[in-house]
Order: sequence, then C-alpha cells, then structure tokens
Amino acid sequence: MEQIKQFIQKNMDQIRYIKKEEVIYSPELRWYCEKNQCGMYHQTWVCPPGVGSVAALKQQYISFPSAIFFAKTFHLEDQFDIDSMNEARKTMNTLAKQINQLILENKLKAKVLGFGGCDICNKCTYPLEPCRYPDRALPSLEAIGINVSETALACRMIYYHGPKTVTYFGMVFYE
Ligand code: SF4
Repeated sequence: MEQIKQFIQKNMDQIRYIKKEEVIYSPELRWYCEKNQCGMYHQTWVCPPGVGSVAALKQQYISFPSAIFFAKTFHLEDQFDIDSMNEARKTMNTLAKQINQLILENKLKAKVLGFGGCDICNKCTYPLEPCRYPDRALPSLEAIGINVSETALACRMIYYHGPKTVTYFGMVFYE
C-alpha cells in the first residue's frame, strides 16, 4: 500500500487514515441518485440500481478493516461554472483509475471508489450483459451509500471551501 499512500499524498489536499467503523453509510441518500440529476441513473453497472443495494455493498466494503479518505479542492470561475466542475470530476476519475491500476498491478487487497458513472466502454453493456471490466469499473462513494458530508465532518475534514470552489472526496479501502 506504500505506493498508493505516496500517490495520494502527492495528489490530494486532505487525507485521513480511518477505520471502517468511521465510514458513515446512509441508504436514504439513494433518493438523490433516483432523482437522476447527473443523468447516470440506470445507465451503467457502477450506478444505482445496477450497482446493487446499499446493504449488499456495505457488506462487501466493511470486509476491509481500513480506508484512506481523501479530498482535493478545485477553483471555479464562479459557483455556476459547470465546465470546471466537470473537468475537476474527470481529473478525480483519472486519479482513481491510476490508483486502481496500482492496486491491480501489485495484486493488493484494496478497492478504490470512483467519481460518478463509468466511461471505460464506448457503450456500457448495462443492463443486457455483465460488465466487461468489473476490476476496472469503479462505483462512487455516493453510489455505495457513503454519506460523504457526515463522514468528512466526523473526520474533521473541510467539506466546503467557499462558493468559487468544488471539493471532491474519494476513498480507498484496504487490508
Ligand atoms: S466497464 Fe464498461 S460495461 Fe462495465 S460499467 Fe464501465 S462502461 Fe459499463
């Protein structure tokens, strides 16, 4: 895990090493996914409902005793600067894919979460065929039911840096 810790330290602004008990799950937050403001609901295997129930996902992730909870803040032109927000999310997804590559190459017992949707295939197989690359497709913290704001608060991380910023939170579970 040392390589991954160094990668996160180099690329993120806030980092906490936490125990699985510190991760707060809120199944009711699925309601936001169902409203489909991001347009990804029912579109890929990493988004609800295809990703599975929060209860089943929580069972899977709490098998890892520890997690690295991290965040990176990006500056915006103004609070409606959707282009910069999307660029920031893409940057975080790229960093998550790089972390996942390190996990796969080093055969680590770890899982990194992504940042909404999955862009690996030109056309997702959902819902007709199984995922083509289950080791590379990364569900987001929100998709698996993690309450990001409450977990950040409990970990004394800064969730909001002001109107001209966006902060993305990520997580790596590991043994
Ligand atoms: S890897 Fe391909 S099939 Fe799997 S969720 Fe992503 S886009 Fe869909």
